[in-house]
Amino acid sequence: MKMKISDLRACDCCGSPVGFSFYVLRVSMAIVKPNSARQVFGLTAMLGGSLALSESFAPGADDAVIVLSDQDSSMGEEIYLCQECYILKAVRVCELAEIRSYKKAGA
Ligand SMILES: [Zn+2]
Repeated sequence: MKMKISDLRACDCCGSPVGFSFYVLRVSMAIVKPNSARQVFGLTAMLGGSLALSESFAPGADDAVIVLSDQDSSMGEEIYLCQECYILKAVRVCELAEIRSYKKAGA
């Protein structure tokens, strides 16, 4: 993903400028499609427990799991972390993702 200088913002953890090298954490919810999972697990049981073999035959196996931000980028959050926060701090990723989500929504 390309990024412009104008896309940069402060570290989402400490609020300091991110500097010349920093980390981008992409956070997204993922969903297992029930029908695809049933097909794969059903075939796995029929084929003696081989998940790899059943995934090669089940029609929905290749896209059984959907990462929502892959479908729609607005469904995910990007967290920017400066080097210091990434390396030295115990970062609460979920909390930062929720804060980022509220900021994007303008709340
Ligand atoms: Zn920081």
